[in-house]
Amino acid sequence: MLATTPIPTPIKEPSIYEIEKPFTSKPFHVAPPLPPPQENLDVRSYKHLQSLIRQALKEVYVDVDTWEKVLTEVALEIAQDVPFALEIIGRPSSNGMADDGSTSLHHVIKVTTEPFGMPQESRYVPGPAEGEIPPEVVAIEPNILELGGTVVLKGTAKDLPKIEKVMELVVFVVCNLKLEMYLFRDHFAVRPDSAEANAVHRSPPPPRRVGRSLWNWIRGENRSGHGSNPRSASPEGVVDGSNRFDRAIRQIEKTIISASPDVIFPPPHLLLRLRDEEVNLYPVRMLDQDGRRISYGPDDVDFPSGSGSGKFNSWGSNSPGRRYSSASTKSTSSRTSHISVDSKAGLGYLMTNNNSISGVMRHQSVTFAYSYYFSGSNIPCRPPEILTIEYYQKLGQHFQDRSLGQFVELLCNKAKGLCPDAMCGKPMGQHVITYTHNHGRISVSVREAPQRLGSPPEPDQIYMWTGCRECESTTDIVPMSTGTWHYSFAKYLELLYYNPYFVCGTVCSHIHTRENVRRFFRLRNEIVVFEYDYIDLFEMRVPKIQVSPDYYFDEASDDAHYGADDDLEPFGVDGHAILEQTRGEITTFYNSVKEYMQGLAFATGSALVAQNEGSAEQVQCQIMLDELGKKFEQDEQQLREELKAKKVAEVNNVRRELLAKMKETVKTLVEWQKLHAPGHKEQPEWSLPDYCSIPGHKPKTGHVYPNSFVIVREDEPTSIIAFTLSSKDYIQHIRNQRQYPFGVDPESPPPIPQWENVGGDCEVKMKVFSHEQTPGGPKQHIKYKFRQGKHNFSCTVYYAAQFDGLRRKCGMSAMYVRSLMRCSEWNASGGKSRAGFFKTCDDQLVVKQLASKWSNQEKAALMKFAPAYFEYMNNSDKNPTILVKIFGFYTLKHKNLQTGTVKKLDVLVMEHLFANVNISRKFDLKGVPDRHIVSKKDGENDVMWDGDWVDGRYKQLLRLHAHSKKIIAESVWNDTQFLSDANVMDYSLLVGVNDDKKELVVGIVDFIGPYTWYKILETRAKTTLNAALKGGKDVTVLPPDQYRDRFRKAMEQNFLMVPDKWIKIPGLEQGISSKKLPSVL
Ligand SMILES: [Zn+2]
Ligand SMILES: [Zn+2]
Repeated sequence: MLATTPIPTPIKEPSIYEIEKPFTSKPFHVAPPLPPPQENLDVRSYKHLQSLIRQALKEVYVDVDTWEKVLTEVALEIAQDVPFALEIIGRPSSNGMADDGSTSLHHVIKVTTEPFGMPQESRYVPGPAEGEIPPEVVAIEPNILELGGTVVLKGTAKDLPKIEKVMELVVFVVCNLKLEMYLFRDHFAVRPDSAEANAVHRSPPPPRRVGRSLWNWIRGENRSGHGSNPRSASPEGVVDGSNRFDRAIRQIEKTIISASPDVIFPPPHLLLRLRDEEVNLYPVRMLDQDGRRISYGPDDVDFPSGSGSGKFNSWGSNSPGRRYSSASTKSTSSRTSHISVDSKAGLGYLMTNNNSISGVMRHQSVTFAYSYYFSGSNIPCRPPEILTIEYYQKLGQHFQDRSLGQFVELLCNKAKGLCPDAMCGKPMGQHVITYTHNHGRISVSVREAPQRLGSPPEPDQIYMWTGCRECESTTDIVPMSTGTWHYSFAKYLELLYYNPYFVCGTVCSHIHTRENVRRFFRLRNEIVVFEYDYIDLFEMRVPKIQVSPDYYFDEASDDAHYGADDDLEPFGVDGHAILEQTRGEITTFYNSVKEYMQGLAFATGSALVAQNEGSAEQVQCQIMLDELGKKFEQDEQQLREELKAKKVAEVNNVRRELLAKMKETVKTLVEWQKLHAPGHKEQPEWSLPDYCSIPGHKPKTGHVYPNSFVIVREDEPTSIIAFTLSSKDYIQHIRNQRQYPFGVDPESPPPIPQWENVGGDCEVKMKVFSHEQTPGGPKQHIKYKFRQGKHNFSCTVYYAAQFDGLRRKCGMSAMYVRSLMRCSEWNASGGKSRAGFFKTCDDQLVVKQLASKWSNQEKAALMKFAPAYFEYMNNSDKNPTILVKIFGFYTLKHKNLQTGTVKKLDVLVMEHLFANVNISRKFDLKGVPDRHIVSKKDGENDVMWDGDWVDGRYKQLLRLHAHSKKIIAESVWNDTQFLSDANVMDYSLLVGVNDDKKELVVGIVDFIGPYTWYKILETRAKTTLNAALKGGKDVTVLPPDQYRDRFRKAMEQNFLMVPDKWIKIPGLEQGISSKKLPSVL
């Protein structure tokens, strides 16, 4: 199905490769055990611990210097005790649960307080911990025996409760750090020296408190609910807003949240993007494709309302030279406070309060997409599932953590077991497990060690080594130390994802990047392999044009908007270009005239005349030609003057004069030629614009009506709309109507009931009317007719004022007429054009013709649907929506009295979702999984369907950032609710893949099909139904609520999300502070 569709080069699929090296020549050779780590804590760990203690103490407001010293000393005592504890505890049975009746040893360090004495008298007492073993632990491990020690803190009753919390964090961190030293050693990984690390990872300056208020403030919420803490209303919350994302990011960058040094969490992708937009906000200007300025920034004085006052969605357009503001351009103050509604929804995914003690504790977890594949297969046996593991948490409410040793043992023990997926059923040992988090994917596979390697020396010992993916060199094979064995598996993932120094420095030159490192663990005859790959993540782009919450209506500049003066900019029209074009038409025409006259002169013997040798008749001809030439020159001059004097908005009047002159000139010359140069056979080549025709030439297709700047073109139906919407009569009416948003205008200015002459033989007529269902109701529709000679046109504008209002709210008003001036036929699915669709030449709007067969039903449905649509859209600045907006609905008619042809079109004007975006693949998703494109004609870039998406989803690696998933989920939820309430079904989600920018452009389309209409269709012949539904063979007519539910469910599954470090984890967001960190050992 996807054979001819460009697919981005996929990264290597997780698969098992042949384990040859390092065994090809030598048997499994184990190096002698490594010596225990020399230092109590290495320098880097020690400094990290110190910074973390400082950061935590500052938050609780105690005597930082004193307590820092005390806590550091206690921490070092604990660190010193860990090797002994490891020795006593050893390694529990491989299943991790002592349900076989044996005694299990548990290492717990308790923190107690004694509210007397000096802080300096606080100490760590090793040995069995005091107090009861928690019942939940006993429930799992009945024969548990707790070892470890007790920290006794002394100080004032005021300080101690706070210090106790910090101490618990410190115990966790220091135990983890100590184990990590073994882990690094066993992996031949080397911590950087502090100077080097600081160069990469900016040394954390003293952290400042921003905490929750920062996040609330980013999201534009009221900062409330922290009255008890006077410090949280720090001045940092009150900034001018112009660089808030930058500040938020810097805050994140300098906060320590990992228990390990050198772990670098990149700030949330969404914040980075919002920061970029923040930077790009000034200056706000809009440029057309050629980089010409078509509208002004807020600092220019005459910024017309409507143009740009709406919000262009954050991603803007990627056409060169074009940049849209992501916010209102009308008011600077509101602009800076504005975040698009979709970004707001996206920000909702972020975890808050990251740098408080409880925030740091909560971050001792990792969330990833968990999946497994049969080796080499694209389709997972277990589809990706989002899981969270809290480090060292064996009893947590989330996925259970294991020690690294337990994990390896478990994998090896289960390698022979069969895959639970019924379709697969192959041994788990032939599968690859993936843990995908942010841009990193860790693949873990188990395979049997080749027989010839022999058995490892000790059957229950795990051996480990590290290898290079480039050159396959490896380190020595060493037994896994007890410290490494106890290290948290989930924490191990964190190091693989985020610690750039957790690589192997000694083997070869490639192995300094994590992508090149391969980690091996062997237990008996199984070998477990860890690999890391970088993966691309896609961002969701909602329809670019959105209703702006900063919509600002300015009556004064409204005058300008409606062309009351010479300025056409309000229409988004480049007046200068129009004048240039007309000037060009004049020049080329008169040039062609001059050329023809030279031919005539030559034919009548001008050369002889010049040499005083011509006959009297020839001289006479030359004199006549000279006079004609002078007259035409005068005509040309006059037209040029005219052009200078006229308003651009009425440039058609000049065009009409030009037209008259053209006809007259051509006629004169043709007659003159017949009379004076009958032998002259050369056909004149007049350069005529498309609104001019002369006898013997092809009929004109363009029409110029007075007092306008729009040329009405028969083969470009949108020009009829552009003409109508820019006409003074229409504008006048709509201005009056706008005062009465529901169209109830008792003193509506009388329309034009009779044909009214507007210049030359041109006439117009206008009426307002209500639709058939509600005769006598508000007159919301306008019918505008205009005619000249043999051509009659009419344009019916439905819900004129409502659509006008919507366009204004979307900031579309200005560009609308300009866009509609030119269009061409278009095939929505690419390839050659197909009847029924038009696209404006600036790519911004799409025009869909209602299927003629069902036109009346479709029209009636639309009329009924429209009021709900306006209401929903007008509120869409509060809730994200991805409906592809409809900006107008029209009936267009053209009657040619000469030929007797009548053309009638019912058209919808919609935004073009993929305007100026480089889309490599398109999908139309309805939530019907077995819907495949039926056939594929050569050279056609067909829109693919659900089935194609589902099949290619894993292969094409279209994975989303977490915030993007949130945006689409929320939007789909809102939109489908609205549509099902409006009794609509059969809509689709259109998805365009922009591989260059790693974006998915999405929007809901085809949402005017009401259920009742489909029910009518369904009762008719099946063939007719299929024809009406564009060949969709899987059409089943579902009631709207069922359609909605199926659609939601499918879209939820369709988009695979990859969590990052900042994702809000259910159950972890609240109540964490009361929870204790688990014991490490
Ligand atoms: Zn399987
Ligand atoms: Zn190498």
